Amino acid sequence: MPSSNNTSNNKNMYEVRKLHLKPTPELDALARAAGELYTRTLVGFWRTVRKKNIWLKASSMMRWHTSNQLHAHSADAVVQSFYAALKSWRERRKTDPQAKPPYRRRFYFRIQWKSSAIRVRAGKLILSNGRGNAPLVVPWPWEIPVLVELGWAGTAYELRAVYVRPAAKPVAQGDTAGVDLGEVHLAVVHDGTRTTIYNGRELRATRRYQNKLKAILSAKQSRMQKGSRRWRKLQRSKRKQLRKLDHQIWDILHKQTTMLVSTLHASGVQTVVIGDVRDLRKRVDYGPAVNQRIHQMVSGKVRWLITYKAERLGIRVELQDEAYTSQECPRCGCRHKPKGRVYICPTCGFRFHRDGVGAVNIRRKYLGLGPVVGAMASPTGVRWHPHLRTRVARDERERIPVL
Ligand SMILES: [Zn+2]
Repeated sequence: MPSSNNTSNNKNMYEVRKLHLKPTPELDALARAAGELYTRTLVGFWRTVRKKNIWLKASSMMRWHTSNQLHAHSADAVVQSFYAALKSWRERRKTDPQAKPPYRRRFYFRIQWKSSAIRVRAGKLILSNGRGNAPLVVPWPWEIPVLVELGWAGTAYELRAVYVRPAAKPVAQGDTAGVDLGEVHLAVVHDGTRTTIYNGRELRATRRYQNKLKAILSAKQSRMQKGSRRWRKLQRSKRKQLRKLDHQIWDILHKQTTMLVSTLHASGVQTVVIGDVRDLRKRVDYGPAVNQRIHQMVSGKVRWLITYKAERLGIRVELQDEAYTSQECPRCGCRHKPKGRVYICPTCGFRFHRDGVGAVNIRRKYLGLGPVVGAMASPTGVRWHPHLRTRVARDERERIPVL
């Protein structure tokens, strides 16, 4: 999962397509061959350290330990994995004297195919193995990956195909959308001509109910003997009910942000600029009731969701300081606190839907644009409903960025 909020796409992006494969004797044999090679590398390495006090380099180890079953480059990758583990131990050792070097033998190990061993022919992915061994063949309606990895994922094998996406094009005005995250609305998007409001009503209602439920059940619980049978029973029920509401909240967030990002993607947007609200928590103290609302603000989650969903479609995400963006007039730049649903500038008479002003200004500030001229179209709204889905989202679901 991507963790950074502000990623510049000057370098290439990596994406991974994941596929689960049921265990077969063929896959088991490959994983065992890799495990056997890893174990030989490990044992050989430590034996040389112990007997000759020599720490062999990866290159000599790769010449020493090869596999009949695996492609030469796949075998090298197994040896390199051992050295990667060794390297990470050396790093950890600097801060943690208890850190242990890699010593565990592996019965199974993951296999990597480098591009020299990967072909796609007639809807099939063909992964070459060692000379004289049959290749691994997987149905493949997609393009050719640069790297393929086969690992174990608990109950099945997982095939991970890595793609490199070229860096995003430089910023152009028409390709940039501003996003204002908020409390009343989940998000408001402005792309220069259109403004779209992603409604937050269901989300607010669910959150309010969650808080109320928590309060009621906690009050009930406080009248019981802590730790008693009845208390524990209620505790379990409380957890379960609150968790269900959590899932509902995530469902709303996911569907709304997927809709948002795929709409931007479909209209050719290359850069998404999100208003940065991170200081709000520190700055604001409005009293307990309002504080609860603000501290539960989902904008952090929404920002994260939009960021990773946009980046996996090759859209770049930037942050913009959003100070005064909801107050500033996009035409004359004067500041005033809007009252009511419509923002009306007392100086120049500019009128616009109040919640759209923030998104317009975030985009304007990021692009360094002058005043807005002429009238702008009224915003349109998107409400969450249980089956809100998009085609782009389904196609992209298996692609997960690794970097
Ligand atoms: Zn004005």
